[in-house]
Amino acid sequence: MPKKAISVNISVLRDTIIELELDGAFPNRMALYVAVANAYNRNYKLIKNKLTQSIVRDRIKKNNIVVKTPLGTRGGVWSEDRKNKQKTLMKEGRKNAKAKRIDFKKYPEKKQYLEDLRQITPVNHRGLIESIRKGSIADAIKLNCLRCLGYDRNLVRDCTDNGCALWVFRPYQMEV
Ligand code: SF4
Repeated sequence: MPKKAISVNISVLRDTIIELELDGAFPNRMALYVAVANAYNRNYKLIKNKLTQSIVRDRIKKNNIVVKTPLGTRGGVWSEDRKNKQKTLMKEGRKNAKAKRIDFKKYPEKKQYLEDLRQITPVNHRGLIESIRKGSIADAIKLNCLRCLGYDRNLVRDCTDNGCALWVFRPYQMEV
């Protein structure tokens, strides 16, 4: 059954953004989306369907809502030099991920962990579990990042949390 789109009151969303940005812009868009989602859920009392940062991002985009907070360096236009540096880092990351592949056959006790992970993973991303079962660290990182940001690959691509140890290995970086 197709997922029902979460209904968002755009005028409340707009007012929430204006109110939150009254004292100025946020350090980055991610911080804005999180603050807006929290404030909206608190004020608008969405009981069943809580607004997430990825929905905030989507509705801002779809409704052309003007925000003060800049996209930040991760969402900006990438220079060739920066793209090449990023490519090199990703290549290194992939190389390391392959070198550290885990043979799960040696760890039968981890089977239950994979089954639990499968249960909490949306159906359309369960292919990654099979890949993790075969020992792919790259796909474990991919699933972790997707889960971190509501399974929104654009948010993962634009993730600005470079305090996260996985930031340099996160997927979708070159889809700019
Ligand atoms: S890099 Fe870290 S903070 Fe960013 S999406 Fe991945 S897990 Fe989340």
